[in-house]
Amino acid sequence: MSQDLYELLGVARDADADTIKKAYRRLARKLHPDVNPDPETQEQFKVVSHAYEVLSDPQKRAAYDRGGDPFAGGAGGFGAGAGFSFTDIMDAFFGGQPGAGGGRGPRSRVQRGQDALIRLEVELAEAAFGVTRELKVDTAVLCETCHGDGAAPGSKPVTCETCHGQGEVAHVQRSFLGEIRTLRPCAACRGLGSIIPDPCRECSGEGRVRSRRNLTVKIPAGVDDGVRVQLAEQGEVGPGGGPAGDLYVEIRVAPHETFVRQGNDLHCTVTVPMSAAALGTTLTLPTLEADLDEEDREGKETEFELEVRPGTQSGSQQVLRGRGVPGLRGGRGDLVVAVAVETPTRLDARQEELLRELAALRGEENPGGQVRPGSKSVFGRLRDAFNH
Ligand code: ZN
Repeated sequence: MSQDLYELLGVARDADADTIKKAYRRLARKLHPDVNPDPETQEQFKVVSHAYEVLSDPQKRAAYDRGGDPFAGGAGGFGAGAGFSFTDIMDAFFGGQPGAGGGRGPRSRVQRGQDALIRLEVELAEAAFGVTRELKVDTAVLCETCHGDGAAPGSKPVTCETCHGQGEVAHVQRSFLGEIRTLRPCAACRGLGSIIPDPCRECSGEGRVRSRRNLTVKIPAGVDDGVRVQLAEQGEVGPGGGPAGDLYVEIRVAPHETFVRQGNDLHCTVTVPMSAAALGTTLTLPTLEADLDEEDREGKETEFELEVRPGTQSGSQQVLRGRGVPGLRGGRGDLVVAVAVETPTRLDARQEELLRELAALRGEENPGGQVRPGSKSVFGRLRDAFNH
């Protein structure tokens, strides 16, 4: 310890307090055990810290300058400082870093409430074209008795005597660096700086109460399974009657017996008899709009015509542009109709006779099965139609 303390910190003998602080900060960043655990470096850190402890204290510095022992007053006992974190030391000496240790005054009793989530099951048509629903919502709401401040009517919160309204109290620990002062939330008022001596009986001083209410929700056209509709400030009212969080309504779309939704497209399969597929026909089929209530159906097409051309193969599909689901951001998907040709079963004698005659006319009495690879085959098209 015979080395010159000014040299240790790398400052001039007439350096001011600020320069000394900056010099130590620079060295501490480099030498602190949390940064560099090497034993030699730790030893160096202790020596530098000792120099700082002396030179940062005007009385000790003056004593040192006069050639005296700056620790004569019994301040000693350093060398055991590893229990203090780098952040503690930086805070204690340099006035705190963001996110580390107090110094910010009392926290507010009033806080924003949490978001709430409820699930809502809707029909496919409701999801596609929009719907207005009445929901029961169970959240915290503002306490009407105290209007959120938590104090019984006629009373008021009072300043906490333990922390004098600061919300935090200083804890002082001794270390080889001298005293390390940290601020901690006041236990008496939970860091709020004030105490409610006579809490509102309705809400026990919380400023909010739980309540079930009805809420009308407009679900926009085009929502899909899993979409969350955000209702601003319809969530939980915060502590102290703070602003409400948002309410999210998560949409579950019930399966539909005819249509399957894929993105904004609708898919369905229409089964036609073998004869109709061979001869061709026109079918009139209900659209998804047909599911809507009478008033919502107004002005919408509830049917569509599907032309089954003569010779239609099982698995072939038709795309009806713009007959799918409206997109949330505009536009509309397609309706994709796959045709499944139904082979007749349980033929009576006359039907069987006719079919055998047809087979004979077409030379199909002994059909050799054909398997062809590639997309031209019936198998390929069937795969396309059902693997969508
Ligand atoms: Zn209240």
